[in-house]
Amino acid sequence: MQVVQTPKELKALRDSLPGSVGFVPTMGALHEGHLSLIKKSVEQNDHTIVSIFVNPTQFLPGEDFSKYPRRYEADKKICELASVDILFMPEADAMYHEDEVIIKAPKAKGYILEGHFRPGHFDGVLQVVNKLFHLTKPTRAYFGKKDAQQLYLIQQMVRDFFFDIEIVPCDIVRDPDGLALSSRNVYLSPQERQKALLLSKALKRAAKMVQSGEYSVERIKAKMREILEDIKLDYVEIVDREFEPIENVVVGDTIILVAGYVGSTRLIDNIWI
Ligand code: AMP
Repeated sequence: MQVVQTPKELKALRDSLPGSVGFVPTMGALHEGHLSLIKKSVEQNDHTIVSIFVNPTQFLPGEDFSKYPRRYEADKKICELASVDILFMPEADAMYHEDEVIIKAPKAKGYILEGHFRPGHFDGVLQVVNKLFHLTKPTRAYFGKKDAQQLYLIQQMVRDFFFDIEIVPCDIVRDPDGLALSSRNVYLSPQERQKALLLSKALKRAAKMVQSGEYSVERIKAKMREILEDIKLDYVEIVDREFEPIENVVVGDTIILVAGYVGSTRLIDNIWI
């Protein structure tokens, strides 16, 4: 595995790779969720590039940018063992210039849900992923359904900017008790971790309601809010796969999403119905 820090080195190495290239962008502190994306990429491509970059432009002032977990040595080992070919770990000043060209997330879908509670977050995500796509020129790029709205907006950017990249959505990896894996789970105390289980519990309950014939978005959301009573919610929302509001769940075209704070840790989770 080659570890590189500058865009110039990455470009040169990437251009030397024959065949198909899979790309997995991450912010590091790698866990089994990330690893599932990496494994899929290694399976499906001749070569795999992983990036680890805690991207400052996708954090809002007051968010956890400076305390976001950084585990560079452990992450390197994980990538090496997973047969990653290139690991890209740039510094922020290698990725950004002063007063540069800015990408804006679309007004509607980029500023609802996550985008409403973290305004500008998706501008930063799309800005950095755009740069990373140009540097890695992947055949396929791997994104987790855990960040469902991000996945949707990346797919939209690929369409809008005519990128020739296949976006591969990957299932959410959970701990055996249901908690969706997240680099931010390390912030949780044992008690908070117990409370955090309410998120997946509410989603599971919603899925059960649908299974037993309850399709009303309003009634499902009301039940979820009951279960989530002890969590300071940002939102509980049920949308179609284009992130349009709906009144009734349509099996095969629905995402149920939840976001909220457990202590001072903000967690998100969702389920695709
Ligand atoms: P992050 O490092 O949090 O920016 O995540 C990098 C990629 O891993 C994103 O595409 C995430 O959606 C994905 N990811 C994070 N957590 C999980 C998980 N529990 N299951 C599947 N994918 C995940």
